[in-house]
Amino acid sequence: MDQPEFYAEGALVNVLTTQPLDRTLDYRAPEGGCAQGAYVQVPLGPRQVLGVVWGPGRGDFDYAKIRPVTRVLNVAPMRDELREFLIRAGEYTLTPIDSMLRLATRVPGLSDPPSMQKVYRLGDQTPDRMTDARARVLAVLEDYGGLAFTLKELADMAGTSSSVVKGLVTQGAVLEEATPRDAPYPALDLDRSGKPLTGDQENAATRLRAGLQSESYGTTLLRGVTGSGKTEVYLEAVAECLKLGRQALVLLPEIALTAEFLTRVEARFGARPAEWHSGVTMTERRRAWKMVGQGGAQLVVGARSALFLPYRDLGLIVVDEEHDNSYKQEDGSLYNARDMAVLRAAICGARVVLASATPSLESWANAEAGKYERIDMTDRFGPAILPDMDAIDMRAEAMSSGKWISPSLQGEVRQRMEKGEQALLFLNRRGYAPVTLCRACGEQIECEHCSASMVEHRFLKRLVCHQCGESRPMPEKCPSCEAEGTLAPIGPGVERLAEEAAELFPDARIATLSSDLFGSARALKAGIEAIAQGGADIIIGTQLVAKGHNFPLLTLVGVIDADLGLQGSDLRAAERTFQLMRQVAGRAGRSERKGAALLQTYQPEHPVIRAILDGDEESFWRAEADQRRAAGMPPYGRLAGIILSSPDPQAPFQFGTTLARHDDALREIGAQLFGPAAAPIARIRGRHRVRLLVKAPKGAPLQQAITKWLAPARLPKDMRLAVDIDPQSFY
Ligand code: ADP
Ligand code: ZN
Repeated sequence: MDQPEFYAEGALVNVLTTQPLDRTLDYRAPEGGCAQGAYVQVPLGPRQVLGVVWGPGRGDFDYAKIRPVTRVLNVAPMRDELREFLIRAGEYTLTPIDSMLRLATRVPGLSDPPSMQKVYRLGDQTPDRMTDARARVLAVLEDYGGLAFTLKELADMAGTSSSVVKGLVTQGAVLEEATPRDAPYPALDLDRSGKPLTGDQENAATRLRAGLQSESYGTTLLRGVTGSGKTEVYLEAVAECLKLGRQALVLLPEIALTAEFLTRVEARFGARPAEWHSGVTMTERRRAWKMVGQGGAQLVVGARSALFLPYRDLGLIVVDEEHDNSYKQEDGSLYNARDMAVLRAAICGARVVLASATPSLESWANAEAGKYERIDMTDRFGPAILPDMDAIDMRAEAMSSGKWISPSLQGEVRQRMEKGEQALLFLNRRGYAPVTLCRACGEQIECEHCSASMVEHRFLKRLVCHQCGESRPMPEKCPSCEAEGTLAPIGPGVERLAEEAAELFPDARIATLSSDLFGSARALKAGIEAIAQGGADIIIGTQLVAKGHNFPLLTLVGVIDADLGLQGSDLRAAERTFQLMRQVAGRAGRSERKGAALLQTYQPEHPVIRAILDGDEESFWRAEADQRRAAGMPPYGRLAGIILSSPDPQAPFQFGTTLARHDDALREIGAQLFGPAAAPIARIRGRHRVRLLVKAPKGAPLQQAITKWLAPARLPKDMRLAVDIDPQSFY
């Protein structure tokens, strides 16, 4: 790019704002000038908006009328690498560049002047009286030799209250100081070594280190069974990256996993990294954003949006549990963080590590095709071995109606309890019952805004719509026929399962792990830790438990309904069921005790169930790949979903039909168009939904064709059109 580095006062600059304008605007550089890429505040009508100096002014507007930039923000200018990433990610996902800039500037108070905060460091006085709590505070400060902490950080790390710290301040044993709020993160200690690695692990770490030393782009699929030490291995890659003076990013699919991971980082490097996800305070987010840009943060641990931070020199992106669905953002801008990680790394010459026990078919195929390097780790660390897997044939079990735990599974649970071990009953359904039916009139209670049934949450005493989140108190009477006491739950959710377990095992301590049963991420973390330490005999859980937690006492996993994910016509039904079942099973037997996983199924001969039980992952993938290849489906072909929605029930269909009639641009690239058809969930939040599906050959310029196809379309009032490139779900 041929651009000046700096614009002197009065020079014309072109500014991209975060406003949906469809174009960039010219301004005059302010007093003191501004740098290419500078984050600025500019006037737009009566408002002040955030923008970035995008290039030299175009000068197609009367200079006398052009207003000056109001202010240059005191943050590092956007680097060309991030700019190129935003442009290319926007082109790939068909997202306008202003939305991309919004993604990259989601920090409140970016334009606020720096403020001060109080921090605490070691003083030189000895307290008059030493208590355990006081000793712990001083020990933390000594451990970190001279570093300062906020009151909360220090109290948390010492496991005490803030008043203990305050007490030490009055004694002069701890000093209270004011510093600018957005302070650099404590340096990670790179001289510490990690755990001694096994041969397999060392080989993997060596290959990852070599990749980093090349200081050029490359992606590695790190495939290892749960418990094989993938985390230990990629922490070695992080260490190597930081030693090279570059920054590293670790993406986790679930906030609930960060606490455990941060503890491991702290154990490995002696300090905590920057954190970036929705559970982090606004002040911390701003600090992270600024420090990442100034090089005051070496390592970021975060959610998918951490990909859009203004790194100074990003050398490594780890995508842990790379197959996880939550990497695909399903609202607002539709991007897949795994794919965007690869894109950003390719632009900035970084390495990507995709870690998973059950990779996505996409990544598996990329490794097969030689686009990704692949490393396999087949053994669990230490004495831990993979669980035995077996089916419970539900056709042969004596089940009474409204009950879900088969006699065989009951017996297995009882055995574990007698040995003081834990059992997990897995059901991927939140709430008490998925359907509530009136026994008098047969009416099923539906959401008023969505075509979805209301789910009873007995714990909350409410009916909740899992589509739009709408909830209302559990009614006493049937809303339709007004009969009293006739509403009946149909089917199981985790809460109902917990009730059944409590009846079957009256002496057991039962813990239910479902995201909606905990008020906060902190409460959830505390719950998980208590369980890990043996605070429950039976764990009832949704997919929340499938992800990465370590429960050392857990030796039995009972999957209540292994057939659940196989219903429906989703392209990825088989792949997802396979991944989920293998992940859940992987929770069992993570320490010395051998684990078992039992799948309750009505179709034990189903090929997917067979593949799960055999554990022959290669042949599962190969079979799945062959099917997709034959059908021209991803990753061997390309898909894009078009979702039209409107409060008017007819409009989306009519509009979709018009679009389908003018599909020349798609046919030119050999793509096929399917639909319009009512979406599987035909109404969400009062909007009627219609889908179209574009299917194209692998190498075809899909995005360009879609842009050309949709360009002449004028959206009727109230109609929304969303394009989903590489859709993951088809609801
Ligand atoms: P994965 O990420 O593959 O599931 P982890 O890295 O979490 O596996 O390892 C599983 C458990 O084994 C963790 O508690 C980890 O600390 C431990 N572990 C793995 N490798 C080693 C090692 N070389 N030395 C000591 N502990 C290890
Ligand atoms: Zn709803």
